[in-house]
Amino acid sequence: MSRRSKAGLARLWSAIANSLQEASEQLRRLTEEAAPVLSVEEGLERLREGNRRFQRNRQCHPHGDLRREREVVQSQAPFAVILSCADSRVVPEILFDQGIGDLFVIRIAGNVATPEVLASIEYAVLHLGIELFVVLAHENCGAVHAAHEAVREGEDAPHLSALLAQIAKHFPQEAREELSSNSLAEVNARSTIQECLERSPLLKQRQREGRLLPLPAYFSLSDGGVYFLPDPAPSIPLVHGTNPTVRGPTVRGTVGSGENSGG
Ligand SMILES: [Zn+2]
Repeated sequence: MSRRSKAGLARLWSAIANSLQEASEQLRRLTEEAAPVLSVEEGLERLREGNRRFQRNRQCHPHGDLRREREVVQSQAPFAVILSCADSRVVPEILFDQGIGDLFVIRIAGNVATPEVLASIEYAVLHLGIELFVVLAHENCGAVHAAHEAVREGEDAPHLSALLAQIAKHFPQEAREELSSNSLAEVNARSTIQECLERSPLLKQRQREGRLLPLPAYFSLSDGGVYFLPDPAPSIPLVHGTNPTVRGPTVRGTVGSGENSGG
């Protein structure tokens, strides 16, 4: 074969390879777009699996590049709403090993339900169709600790004082002295869910219809595990991350495997 023919053949092969790659890329995109929205059970399992990877330092870091950002330019379909603290050590996308477009995250000190937070949750449920709603408490929460210690901020920080009062109102008065700040963080997460359901007819209705699963959870900074909290609450709050014997709470009936996400 002549040198000229060989060069022509190489160009042909290169063109075929490029076309195949393009077709494969298009097929992948179509498959992803056509993928069904995750069920609540699948979403919860995805959170559990992601957190297991995080704990074992075997993250996949999915959906973390510009290509993914471009895929979701026109629409988003996150599978869970996460209401978490604004604490710099609590980053839902990282501790659940998720990426762009996967989680609808609302962060505010003490993970409380202000009107703006409730509005964001309602938006996620109503317009994005999300059915899994997690309120994520965490170990050594400065906001919960300050509320527990009844810290009074000065007159120059009235908004912070109001936020601490919103957390403190969730604490049971009779047991407040006996409980640690970590236990009260769990109480706060549960109470925040109740508050959301009481103040939002939409959320209450969706829960009643079985179209919304609200779950309190606790993130242990010490071991990296996210522990979904049992329902109903035990008489004494669990103190995760400090007492291994109480790990492994069950998630309510239809969705949980009975194991905690820490494996
Ligand atoms: Zn916090």
